[in-house]
Amino acid sequence: MLENNDKSSTPLEKIGEFGLIKQLTKDFKIFHKNTIKGVGDDAAVLDKTNKNTVITTDLLIEGIHFDLGYMPLKHLGYKAVIVNLSDVYAMNATAKQITVSIAVSNRFPLEAIEELYSGIKLACDTYQIDLIGGDTTSSTKGLLISITAIGQANKEDIVYRSGAKANDLLVVTGDLAAAYLGLQVLEREKQVFQVNPNSQPDLTKYNYLIERQLKPEARKDVIRIFKNLKVKPTSMIDISDGLSSEILHLCEESQVGCNLFEEKIPLDPQVIATCEELNLESTTIALSSGEDYELLFTIDQKDFDKIKGNPNFTVIGHMTDKNEGAHLITRANQKIAIIAQGWRSF
Ligand code: ADP
Ligand code: MG
Repeated sequence: MLENNDKSSTPLEKIGEFGLIKQLTKDFKIFHKNTIKGVGDDAAVLDKTNKNTVITTDLLIEGIHFDLGYMPLKHLGYKAVIVNLSDVYAMNATAKQITVSIAVSNRFPLEAIEELYSGIKLACDTYQIDLIGGDTTSSTKGLLISITAIGQANKEDIVYRSGAKANDLLVVTGDLAAAYLGLQVLEREKQVFQVNPNSQPDLTKYNYLIERQLKPEARKDVIRIFKNLKVKPTSMIDISDGLSSEILHLCEESQVGCNLFEEKIPLDPQVIATCEELNLESTTIALSSGEDYELLFTIDQKDFDKIKGNPNFTVIGHMTDKNEGAHLITRANQKIAIIAQGWRSF
């Protein structure tokens, strides 16, 4: 978890837009040679490249995508960068630059926005990302953050959602469902806190879940592992909206079907224990909950030996002909059609 810095409070009017931008961006480092000009002119300048450029953007709105009641601003900044980097890695590309645009109401003092940017900076330092620009404006009420990430990859290395073939293996990184359960725990504690502000909950038995919700990571390491193992997935997507909806995206874009085996879905022991405690079905949560930011991909069967035994990867199923449809094979060997029940912002 990230620690919060102590806050005094300087109203934003006092330092003005230019002062604010300067204050927020002054400590950022530039990591990449191809960033010719970052923050400080009318536009950023990137050098030409013989690679393909990958661009992705996300808009996060207070009250829809995050709740500052349990999401500290530093964590929010960190996570806002991570969700974009995850999309770049899901193309098997290297993320290099971001722009960050914010709309802030006068309810936030300078120190709050600095806290947000300390999380953004931590993500940039951790993942070697150059902050090259953005926009700053006011909002009537909440906080809005829009981040655009730019990455690069050799044309032949880019992995789309559309390349899966029947008989390819379906593989997932890490484990699933923890971020959603972390949110459930935090929401429950927020309600307890509203009733009794002196409550000091002991959340240690949920530490992994809360960490996955408040400080997710993007799988940059996996892109490197693919290079080292000389594996190019046939299709790939990051898991932001839950396993079932991501599987259906791969099936739809690749025009294939799939068999997913319930017993193979990787779950952390804390996920299993907390599902029991909250009376939730762990498979349902893994299928339908979001924000794990793991990678879901398919590989040709001939590449199986390269990933076999690697603790980062779990084979959870295989692709089939399109007309076989997409199914979950349960522990009881029942075949159930996979339906999209992923997290939706609407
Ligand atoms: P303009 O008025 O020409 O859009 P701005 O004054 O908004 O220019 O921005 C000045 C510089 O600061 C630009 O390089 C811009 O990309 C950068 N910038 C503005 N807001 C942010 C922000 N919230 N985070 C990072 N960089 C920013
Ligand atoms: Mg501007």
